[in-house]
Amino acid sequence: MGRSVPAILTATLLLGIASFGNGRGANAEEPPKMQTVQGKHIALKSDGGTMESLQELVQAFDTAVPQWERFLELPAGTLALWKVDAFVMDQPDRFRDSGDLPEGLEFPFGFAMPDRIWVMRQQSDYYTRHLLLHEGVHALAINQFGSTGPSWFAEGLAEMLGVHQGVGNTVEVNVVPQSRNAVPFWGRFKMLSQRRAENRIPTIDAVLQYPQDLKSDVEAYGWSWVALMLLTQYPEYRVATLAEAKTPSIQTAGFSAALKRRLTGDWPIVQARWRMLVNTIDYGFDWQREHIELSIKDPVWNGRPIQTLIKADQGWQSIGVRFAPGMRVKISAHGRCTINNDPKPWVSEPPGVTIHYAGDRPLGQLLVCILPNRTQEGQLLEPLSIQTIESATEIVVDQHCWLLFRINDHLDDLGNNQGGYTVSIQR
Ligand SMILES: [Zn+2]
Repeated sequence: MGRSVPAILTATLLLGIASFGNGRGANAEEPPKMQTVQGKHIALKSDGGTMESLQELVQAFDTAVPQWERFLELPAGTLALWKVDAFVMDQPDRFRDSGDLPEGLEFPFGFAMPDRIWVMRQQSDYYTRHLLLHEGVHALAINQFGSTGPSWFAEGLAEMLGVHQGVGNTVEVNVVPQSRNAVPFWGRFKMLSQRRAENRIPTIDAVLQYPQDLKSDVEAYGWSWVALMLLTQYPEYRVATLAEAKTPSIQTAGFSAALKRRLTGDWPIVQARWRMLVNTIDYGFDWQREHIELSIKDPVWNGRPIQTLIKADQGWQSIGVRFAPGMRVKISAHGRCTINNDPKPWVSEPPGVTIHYAGDRPLGQLLVCILPNRTQEGQLLEPLSIQTIESATEIVVDQHCWLLFRINDHLDDLGNNQGGYTVSIQR
């Protein structure tokens, strides 16, 4: 971190491997001319890339800004005159020579100041564009909130409003990438999957306590992104999160605690939803289908039989009651659903279609998850218990919990599913 850099900017680094030159006309005798492109919200200067590719980046940035304004619920027109100087660099020394990059300012990926951002050109157009948007969000946060906020919020917001699909004026931000191929070199899900496999998933409380300097740790960036999605995809949390971001607490270390205070009554549900989210999210995750209905007010099961439909086109579904330690629960299921239409409808029953798999389990298989009512862990979550229901199954409950069900399918392929299974719960 350069000595001349204000403390407010310490959260703006993004991990990566700097790539110099890239063979994009980096001829030692005659380096390519600096090119500039003027947009509405960005003046872009670069020492590489074609004029067409730079114009595309400018279009993408200008297309993202109104989406950021809407997402942050700023009064319409707030950002009409907001503009940054941006530098997409192959060879940082050339920008030092021209006075565009302050002496002593070094970073592997990108950096933001209130009205200036720098990005190292990356190995994919996607990732270069992603970083340009990411650093743009940092600059915007400083402009609007006076600070980027604590590290998890700063990087979560910049990732969330930087991850995108489309190019140029078709860019749409705040999406969950459909596939690895859609976001070359971004790599966040690879790290999160690895941590899942190792049972090293942090609690949301641990994420909110990340140190201010994340030391460009890609895992911390990933969990911060997931945390901020959780806190903005559920409307009731979004209201609290955006409201707190617009108070002076965003400029202090007390921000996370103040946000949790706003959500005090909901926090056990935030923690429970986090536990499900971090176990589920991957390429193709569809927020429209993955909201989980849970309430602290869900009654404790009174022992009377319950029958409920678990839908094939939705993610995890609670049956609406909580269970207490010592309860013996007999679960059975019947019914049929279709889980694909190509080339013809695949009809499945609770054991699943055993010739097709998603996540190592047959498509169409009914799954049950025991979700604790309380998150007792401080740093790392205990793994969830997820079982299959192929025939009548008995569960002996050993802690206060919900039972959640879902019909196994690829995360990005729930939209063409129909029907579901009727699940019966009895003593
Ligand atoms: Zn950042």
